[in-house]
Amino acid sequence: MAFNLEMYPISYLAQYDATTKTWNEKWIEADSIPYKELLHMEENQRQQIFQNRNQLGLPAVSYTSQYGYGVFEGMKAYPRKDGKISIFRPDRNAQRFANSLRGLYCPVFPEELYVKASLEFIRKNAALGYVPEYDAGWEKDNFASASAVYMRPFMNSEAAIGVGISHAPYVIICATTVSSYFKGGNTKAVTTNRIRATPHGTGYIKCASNYVISALAKKEAEDAGYMEVIYLDAQEHKYIQEGSSCNIFFHMKDGTLVTPELGDTILPGITRSSVIDLARQEGVTTEERPISIQEVMSDAVGCFVTGTAAGITPIESITHEGKETVFNNRVPGELGEKLQRILKGTQYGALEDTNNWNVIV
Ligand SMILES: *Cc1c(COP(=O)(O)O)cnc(C)c1O
Repeated sequence: MAFNLEMYPISYLAQYDATTKTWNEKWIEADSIPYKELLHMEENQRQQIFQNRNQLGLPAVSYTSQYGYGVFEGMKAYPRKDGKISIFRPDRNAQRFANSLRGLYCPVFPEELYVKASLEFIRKNAALGYVPEYDAGWEKDNFASASAVYMRPFMNSEAAIGVGISHAPYVIICATTVSSYFKGGNTKAVTTNRIRATPHGTGYIKCASNYVISALAKKEAEDAGYMEVIYLDAQEHKYIQEGSSCNIFFHMKDGTLVTPELGDTILPGITRSSVIDLARQEGVTTEERPISIQEVMSDAVGCFVTGTAAGITPIESITHEGKETVFNNRVPGELGEKLQRILKGTQYGALEDTNNWNVIV
């Protein structure tokens, strides 16, 4: 496993100037080593370069590093069948990023700036060979093994030591190439007693502090032999919320597709919203409503989790209080597979983008 994050050489950085109320933008070029050259280097040297690229000059002591007062996004750029590159629904990430910042009473990063910087970011790094090339072989397994650019826009606060609100935040965009998110092997999930998000908290935004509990619960699930963890609601511990950092869907006996309705404890996933649209376009009745673990255990025939990193990942079973409910004889369900085929095909430009979701770089 790589010790360092294999970051791209060029990153974007903006800082808010509270006096002039403007965002000062710049590009940080850690180096201009083309990707092909990196491949021929010694491992030590390469690791040194990645480490250098990760030094973005942000303050070490800040509201973010001390208290988890930070916001991030996860977005992908895809190499396309036609040789171009596109970003999937960056306007939606821009909107959510702005909403997350608003949720932290922090100056809002303009949505147009977010999209423009994201496109420029890909252009600059692609010019050095950092965006993987489209591979027709990916079509064989419906892009399950395909690569993409994982973009990580995030906000960090200015230097600060007491608990407080950021007035001069930084916005950074960096990226790394990724392939499949889950490691393969079993796709079992288990419910946890931990609470991811509480009513009136920060669960509805991609706030850094939310992900500590996620990491703990996921480790506990993995140590017990599961791939994924499922959260129940904070008050009654009865209704399904989400996976570790994915939204969740259930295919019911009667053919409907159900996902928990949004509220202040569920992250409004862009994959979630896209899957709902695609399912409806395929004529599948799709409901956003409370769904209890009991209902899942008696009436669900299929289950999958969704997210930018996870795509649409089937779940073979859910174990709750020691009882395992198996979906579709542990084989990925037909509906999830079909939606995955459409979603990935659209993102990689192998299918027509009928919803105009892709933004060409
Ligand atoms: C990011 C995230 C998701 C998925 O959102 P996408 O926009 O689909 O990537 C779901 N749940 C949580 C908690 C998340 O942080």
